[in-house]
Amino acid sequence: MSSLVKDRVLKRILMLGTGGTIACKSSEDGLKPLLTSEELLRYVPDTKEFCKVDSLQVINIDSTNMQPRYWLMIAETIEKHYEDYDGFVVCHGTDTMAYTAAALSYLVQNSRKPIVVTGAQKPIDLEITDARTNLSDSLRFASSDKAYGVTIVFDGKVIAGTRGKKEKTKSYNAFSSINFPYIAAILDGHIIFYLDDKEQMKEPVRFYHSLNSKVGLLKLIPAMDSGVLDYMAEHCDAVILESFGVGGIPTYDSGDFHKSIEDLVRTGKTVVMTTQVTNEGSNMSVYEVGKSIKKEFDLLEAYDMTLEAVVTKLMWILGQTSDPEEIREMFYKTINRDMLFTCAVHD
Ligand code: ASP
Repeated sequence: MSSLVKDRVLKRILMLGTGGTIACKSSEDGLKPLLTSEELLRYVPDTKEFCKVDSLQVINIDSTNMQPRYWLMIAETIEKHYEDYDGFVVCHGTDTMAYTAAALSYLVQNSRKPIVVTGAQKPIDLEITDARTNLSDSLRFASSDKAYGVTIVFDGKVIAGTRGKKEKTKSYNAFSSINFPYIAAILDGHIIFYLDDKEQMKEPVRFYHSLNSKVGLLKLIPAMDSGVLDYMAEHCDAVILESFGVGGIPTYDSGDFHKSIEDLVRTGKTVVMTTQVTNEGSNMSVYEVGKSIKKEFDLLEAYDMTLEAVVTKLMWILGQTSDPEEIREMFYKTINRDMLFTCAVHD
C-alpha cells in the first residue's frame, strides 16, 4: 500500500491518559501511575497499521482518587477535540472505570464517534500483562466504522458505558455487562459485533458541563438504624437506597425508615430505590414492604440500571435541574442503553 493511500485510511484517534494500573510502575510504596499516555503508546506499535494516535495526559492518578471534576475535564477535552478525531480512547484505572464510563455516557450523549474507556489489571511494562491487548483492542474498536458512543473495552469484551461493573479484583476478565448484552467481542484483532445499530443514532452529539456530586448511597443491612438517613438528608441532594432483593424498606423498631424517607421527600431531596443484587434489577411493586412506600412517596426506582449508572445519572441530572418533575423525566429516559425496564415505571 502506498503511504498516500495508507494515510487516507488510517483513523485518527485521540488517546487520553488518566493513570491507573495500566500506567503504573513499581515503587517502594506500591504501584504508582507514572507512565504518560505517550509512553503507553510505545507498547502497541502494531496499531500504527490501522490508526494514527495523538495523546494527551489529562491527569495521572490511581482511579481511587477519581472525582466528578475530572469527569468534566475528560468530557471537556473530548469536546474540544471532537471534530479533529474519528474516535477517543481513555486509559483509566479499573477500580472506578465503570463510574467514569457511566459519567461520560451522560456528559457526552449521542456521539456517533466511539469513546472507549480501558485499562488493565497489570502494568503495561510487565512481560505478562493484559494491558497491551486491552489498549490495542481499544484503539482497534475506536477505529471501527460501526462503533459509536461510550463503551468499555476490556479482556476482549465491549460493554455499553452504562452497563459495566468491576466484578473481579484480580483476574483479567474483571468487567461484566450487567443486565444487558455485550456489544461486541474482540478476538485476535477481529471485532465481532453482537449489536450493530449505529444507524439508529440520529440525534446530534451533545456535551454537558455540570455535575452535582451531592449524591449519597446507603446500603441496607439487617437491623440498620434509620438515623443514618437523617445525616444524609443534611448532606445530600439525592439519596440512593440499596435495598435487598427486588426491593423493600424495613419496618422494625431500631429507627423509623418511613419517617426518615418522609422527611427526605418533604425537604425536596430525590430518593432512588435500587437493589444490592447485581443481576436482574429491582421491582418494588412485588412485596408489601416495597409497594406502598414507593407509591406513598413517589420514590424513583433504578430497575435494571447498574449502581454506577444510577450514581452518575443523578449527578448529571442534579447538575441540570432541581425541579422534581424534570428529575423524574430525565431519570426514566434511557441514555446510552442504561435502562430497559421502563415498561414497569408506571406501576
Ligand atoms: N487501583 C488501580 C486504579 O484503579 C487499579 C487498576 O487500575 O486496576 O487506578
